[in-house]
Amino acid sequence: MTFEDLKLTRQFLNAIEDWGFEQPTEIQIKAIPPIRSGQDLIGIAQTGTGKTAAFLLPILHLLKYAQGTQPRCLILVPTKELVMQIVSHAEHLSKYTDLRVIGLYGGIGPKAQAQEMEKGKDIIVATPGRFMEIYFKGVIDCKKIKHLVLDEADRMMDMGFMHQLRKIFEIIPNKRQNLLFSATFPERVEHLAEEFLLWPTRVEVSPQATPVETVEQFLYRVPNFRTKIDLLVHLLETDESMERVIVFTRTKDYAENISKYLDRKELGEVRVIHSNKGQNSRINAMADFRAGDVRILVSTDVSARGIDIPEVSHVINFSIPRDSFDYVHRIGRTGRAFRAGTAISFADHTESYYIRKIEDVTKQLIPVLELPESLFIHPTPKSEKQDQAREIDKQKHREDPNYKGAFHEKKYKLKGEKKVSRSTSNRKQNK
Ligand code: AMP
Repeated sequence: MTFEDLKLTRQFLNAIEDWGFEQPTEIQIKAIPPIRSGQDLIGIAQTGTGKTAAFLLPILHLLKYAQGTQPRCLILVPTKELVMQIVSHAEHLSKYTDLRVIGLYGGIGPKAQAQEMEKGKDIIVATPGRFMEIYFKGVIDCKKIKHLVLDEADRMMDMGFMHQLRKIFEIIPNKRQNLLFSATFPERVEHLAEEFLLWPTRVEVSPQATPVETVEQFLYRVPNFRTKIDLLVHLLETDESMERVIVFTRTKDYAENISKYLDRKELGEVRVIHSNKGQNSRINAMADFRAGDVRILVSTDVSARGIDIPEVSHVINFSIPRDSFDYVHRIGRTGRAFRAGTAISFADHTESYYIRKIEDVTKQLIPVLELPESLFIHPTPKSEKQDQAREIDKQKHREDPNYKGAFHEKKYKLKGEKKVSRSTSNRKQNK
């Protein structure tokens, strides 16, 4: 199957060729024809499958060229990073047309976006909140909106956007084409789909929550934070194939500390993004990373979705995400359309619980690697041991709500805990 077979017009075929796409991906093959024929559609596809072009190409095709000043297509997404990514995709793909695209997102003042809107746009890509804010300024006339796309609908539901979405459905015309894309299809997304799609075609490219096949996954069992840091440095020092690496951490503090430490180790340029960083610093960090000027990007989960970096060689999960679907999204940063990638996870003993959940959801066992011989295994400090004991308590409680919590018992047990030798612990880890 080629893009020619999808019967796109020359200006889009040329843009696709310029961008270097040689053949359509599975979601593009399945979704482009029904969308072009005007049908409502549910697309179950992860980031990395080419889903953005799967909805943009047929819509751009239907819109053809710039018309009037009122927008005709509205694309709603959960994060500003995703807005920027989709705007950039749309600009690439429409480069041989005069179609006008605008991105509306928070974090910067609305004034410039409102002024830009007044010039007339064909496509709006927006986060729901910022869309409404600009709408209330009276600069968006919704009467001509004929295509509505909700991208990453599962994340939108998680982030509590339902209320704002309902408001938006009220102000745009009823007669329109609706498209919903989501990596997973939990009940909440199903309800949303029932609410606003009409006899949708459903296309799915991989079973729910199956990590993209091109990603190789590995797991190291590492007892504590300090040893994780050393392992990270060791890998970055010894593995030359780690050209462009994203390190995911659970908290802002971890992200900040790890990036500072790596910076001092001079392992290549490092940037960090998390929610405490200003908008500009995040945009610049992403731009430098995308341009290839930065080897290591340390990020919290906040930015785990919606970053579009085609050439990430490695994803490192410095901590294991609590939500298995986040794991799938995180490792979706690598092994993107037709490229191979590697995802490496570091798990301490409390995180085995989440690894098991991930393995249940993905229906794949993550191969465990032995820790490098030269790695020093730091003893776990008391405060970290206590945190770990609390975490285990929480997990037990989650599994059995009648579980009373044995933190005091744990403490007692930990005192008497025997230190295991490297070789024994390795053997244990590999079981
Ligand atoms: P997405 O799933 O939309 O986030 O896209 C993932 C990545 O795949 C993006 O970097 C796209 O530029 C790239 N991509 C999309 N379609 C194709 C294609 N047909 N061939 C190669 N790369 C593609």
